[in-house]
Amino acid sequence: MNAFAVAPPVQPVVPVRDGRDFPVRRIFCIGRNYADHVAEMGGDLKTTPPTFFTKPADAVFSGGVVAYPLATNDLHFEGELVVALKGGGQMLPPDKAMDAIFGFAAGCDLTRRDLQAQAKQQRGPWDVAKAFDMSAGVGEITPASQWQPMEQTRLRLSCNGEERQNAVLSQMIWSLPEIIANLSGLFALKAGDLVFTGTPAGVGPAKQGDTISVEVDGLCPLKFQIAGE
Ligand code: MN
Repeated sequence: MNAFAVAPPVQPVVPVRDGRDFPVRRIFCIGRNYADHVAEMGGDLKTTPPTFFTKPADAVFSGGVVAYPLATNDLHFEGELVVALKGGGQMLPPDKAMDAIFGFAAGCDLTRRDLQAQAKQQRGPWDVAKAFDMSAGVGEITPASQWQPMEQTRLRLSCNGEERQNAVLSQMIWSLPEIIANLSGLFALKAGDLVFTGTPAGVGPAKQGDTISVEVDGLCPLKFQIAGE
């Protein structure tokens, strides 16, 4: 045996409503995209351009049990609408951006809030706060031919059956076309890319044993549990 032999990489996937798998290429996330969440985090609404960060593709999970992550005492949930791309390329104008969308899903951007606070204080990168193992919850994807977001489409997150987040998508500061157009000015967008579109107010701690459910009107809910002690 070659001592340096490695196992072939495992392709992370998200299930699609019609039974197919969506192979995940990259995961992009926008920070600070609902005014009420910006207010609760003490940010500035007028920060431009939008803040983006990334997670590795294999941080994705679609339900089940999630181990409480290492190195944190303050794991937080952030319920979000997730966009799955089928292409896009670079420098997309906003009026062409929606054509790059394959489908939509309910998602959860898990965050080590204590490490994020440290990073902000030290003006350091957010990677350890955001890009850890099993940090990107993405429920079953509904193809764009079957579902489109509307101004009054509602996003809800509940923890142990208790509602914690509830907002309509029209509260987004940057709209979906604006998010995708901005991202395509930084990266050549391709099939398999996922985009987390930001979270409304109400983020809070996910503790060991908690059950989290993220629901977006008309999409498959994302349900998962944080492993117990
Ligand atoms: Mn987020």
